[in-house]
Amino acid sequence: MISKVLIANRGEIALRVLRACKELGIATVAVHSTADADAMHVRLADESVCIGPPPSRDSYLNIHQIVAACEITGADAVHPGYGFLSENAKFADILDAHDITFIGPTADHIRIMGDKITAKETAKALGIPVVPGSAGEVKPENALEIAREIGFPVLIKATAGGGGRGMKVAKSEADLEEAVSTARSEALAAFGNDAVYMEKYLGKPRHIEIQVVGDGEGNAIHLGERDCSLQRRHQKVWEEANSPALNVEQRMKIGEICADAMRKLKYRGAGTIEFLYENGEFYFIEMNTRLQVEHPITEAITGIDLVHEQIRVASGAGLSVTQDEIVFSGHAIECRINAEDPRTFVPSPGTITHFHAPGGLGVRVDSGAYQGYRIPPYYDSLIGKLIVHGRTRVECMMRLRRVLDEFVIDGIKTTLPLFQDLINNQDIANGDYDIHWLENYLAKSAAE
Ligand code: ADP
Repeated sequence: MISKVLIANRGEIALRVLRACKELGIATVAVHSTADADAMHVRLADESVCIGPPPSRDSYLNIHQIVAACEITGADAVHPGYGFLSENAKFADILDAHDITFIGPTADHIRIMGDKITAKETAKALGIPVVPGSAGEVKPENALEIAREIGFPVLIKATAGGGGRGMKVAKSEADLEEAVSTARSEALAAFGNDAVYMEKYLGKPRHIEIQVVGDGEGNAIHLGERDCSLQRRHQKVWEEANSPALNVEQRMKIGEICADAMRKLKYRGAGTIEFLYENGEFYFIEMNTRLQVEHPITEAITGIDLVHEQIRVASGAGLSVTQDEIVFSGHAIECRINAEDPRTFVPSPGTITHFHAPGGLGVRVDSGAYQGYRIPPYYDSLIGKLIVHGRTRVECMMRLRRVLDEFVIDGIKTTLPLFQDLINNQDIANGDYDIHWLENYLAKSAAE
């Protein structure tokens, strides 16, 4: 059994994990950089350890310091949250070597899914539908031949990719050479690895992802989908569950394909299988072997605490539910609240002078922010997530409109006004949007 969890993260997700541990009667250790000494996750944890100066590479990514913090505090498990070390196979290996439980999948599974080419091959072999594309790495010399086979437009993607970096579209043969070389140099700069591959570029897909959880012994379930099509620069902004585009049969069919794949893989922990969805077809793009930012909307419609499940399966206690017991109820939407200018998206760190979180039935705010909190400039600008649940999508939207009016964050700029615009938009009301909708909408608003 796990008795003390060290949370190797910061911000809202550190708080999220801490809450689950407290509910399970597990002691918590927070780690923090010198910039985060007064953060909420540090205040609420049973113990805390300063692991270094502000830059992430010296603190939240510093494996030696984190392992030392486990040794000092006697933590027997680590929850990595998302980002930072959550998909670092070496970190999982090192914890293993120290007899510390990594609350996540095996290092091998992290490795397989971390390399996009291997991930796609594995997905295909497990029966998951994938985007047509190159069988492996694409080099400048074979790019044209492969692109002609796939058919233009094509997308060049970084093998080590993440966060939408190192991705370039080639509309026609004329663009190909440049797309390959820029994708390669961007990939090298971002990931230290210039390997790229090629996929058919889908014109107007939705981004739909399936939440899975496995016990590592061959049992796995799916918890339905999330529609994360509303994106800016490949970053999700607004997510919903269920997807306005799927019906029950489609949900259960793709969900079962994913759960079955995870059973075959003997996957352990929570994971998300991401697809592009166009004309009724699903195309696998990647699998994230960790908890996702947008996991609370799945929790809202299923009533299942995903962090509880992660901790259960990591400690060998198995899943708390079977597939038959899962009931999807109502509709949930998450808005990501960033400390950014809502028009230019320029980060806006600083001190929060007033903070009032909304409440009421079906409302959840996951945030480490509070009145007087100083947002440090060193990290991601996500300062909170607003999750609203209703019995129907219409009720959920009506509730969200009310809740957005109640939310007060003063002293810094936030993306709250963007959501106030979106909630009044007809396409959003109709659920009629694809992965390009938000960029087009923002470009139009900027021109007005
Ligand atoms: P990353 O790991 O860098 O986030 P993904 O493979 O998850 O990369 O893709 C991120 C986003 O890029 C997707 O949500 C989608 O918007 C877009 N995208 C990825 N692959 C394709 C494709 N084949 N066609 C069109 N858009 C794509």
